[in-house]
Amino acid sequence: VDLSSALLPRFDPARAVDPSLYGVPGRAPRIALRPASADEVAEALRAASRERLRVIPWGGAPAIPPTDLPSYDLALDLSALDRIVEYEPEDFTLTAQCGVTLGALRAALAERGQELPLEAADAGRATLGGVLAANGSGPRRLRFGSPRDRILGARFALADGTLARSGGKVVKNVAGFGIHRLLCGSGGGLAVIVEASLKLAPAPATRRALIYDLPAGALAEARRWAAFPRLEPALLTVLGGAAVESALLPGAGLSSSAAARGAGVLVIVGLEDDATWVEQQAEATRAALGPAALELRDADALTLWQRLADAEDAARERLTFNTAGNTPAVLAPLEDVEGLRGLVFHAPAGRLHTFVEEARAPALAARLLGAGFVSIGASGLAAPEPLVPPEQAVLALRRRIRDALDSQRILAFGESWASGSS
Ligand SMILES: Cc1cc2nc3c(=O)[nH]c(=O)nc-3n(C[C@H](O)[C@H](O)[C@H](O)COP(=O)(O)OP(=O)(O)OC[C@H]3O[C@@H](n4cnc5c(N)ncnc54)[C@H](O)[C@@H]3O)c2cc1C
Repeated sequence: VDLSSALLPRFDPARAVDPSLYGVPGRAPRIALRPASADEVAEALRAASRERLRVIPWGGAPAIPPTDLPSYDLALDLSALDRIVEYEPEDFTLTAQCGVTLGALRAALAERGQELPLEAADAGRATLGGVLAANGSGPRRLRFGSPRDRILGARFALADGTLARSGGKVVKNVAGFGIHRLLCGSGGGLAVIVEASLKLAPAPATRRALIYDLPAGALAEARRWAAFPRLEPALLTVLGGAAVESALLPGAGLSSSAAARGAGVLVIVGLEDDATWVEQQAEATRAALGPAALELRDADALTLWQRLADAEDAARERLTFNTAGNTPAVLAPLEDVEGLRGLVFHAPAGRLHTFVEEARAPALAARLLGAGFVSIGASGLAAPEPLVPPEQAVLALRRRIRDALDSQRILAFGESWASGSS
């Protein structure tokens, strides 16, 4: 198929972008388009359906490791759909196009004392659509809920080019199927989100970060951490190895810490609420862990929260796990694991990102799976066995949903969604 004649006559030539940006040589798509409207997204999908081209929607950061890309023909770069469509501060709701970045959304909301309840690495590039499609989260996942919990509705383009909508733009909304929720976590494999509505959060009056530089052995001392589930910190994150360097603020005074030298971990307790409550919680934290190596407030604390999300991306090869254990003490089995280059553990939601070289990954995974962790993701590495695929009944349902939404199997990530491997 001559793709240019199949697709480009319908598009302004300015919409064509360099396909080599969306893969590595030999695995790049044959064509890449950057549509400027929902109608153009639909038009591109319609043409792809007609020509049976396999499509991957792209958000802001081409964050997908080339090794994890299925072969495909058409990259649909959504970064030009970057408008806030409707913002109702009084209702705490917002509707925006999929390509707007988290950074741009945060800036707009901050002016009204409101907060975007979404987190992702590289917020200046990560897009609303990409974070929703990945059902992505960061250190405050427990506080915010997952994107699936915050989305009110969406407009999306099906693989055959049909534009559809589900849910609504306001909180009181119960009609119809929650396809917008289904699309959260579908990884671009079921439909292309072109617009989404979200429930927002009020920004807290006070934020405080207490940063501890601890020897790795301190993690195993369960007594230290016993108070934290009751304290309800906004975040409690452990950083080790390569993740420490990427999270440290320049000039923060921690560059000579044991953690920065690879001899320990940084533990960050993040508190958010009114000033009195935050001070009480800070006191309780000091009672449990002693004086912090460093304390940050408000805007500085918020900058650190983003760096904790960024740290998850500090290495390309990583395995991600979940555990029901919500204190740093659950990391004790990692103390003498060889080849662990770094880790980020967000304790309240029990989410652990580990950086590990390929040869050591099976031993690391075996240790964690043996300690009750479950494997929930892999980047640049094969996911460890045993996987936790959805139950058989759910897989059958996924296949039916995929067939209903994308009968021609145009969306290249649909296979991994339907088979439960993403
Ligand atoms: C395959 C994959 C799975 C991921 N899973 C997780 C996860 O489970 N938890 C987590 O915290 N982070 C996850 N991430 C990281 C996530 O990509 C980041 O949060 C990222 O910054 C999201 O924004 P982005 O704009 O850079 O998206 P990209 O990295 O460009 O895209 C992320 C995924 O969403 C799809 N996508 C992008 N835009 C749209 C859209 N408008 N409509 C439909 N699909 C779209 C892409 O095809 C891709 O599969 C994942 C990333 C990838 C590539």
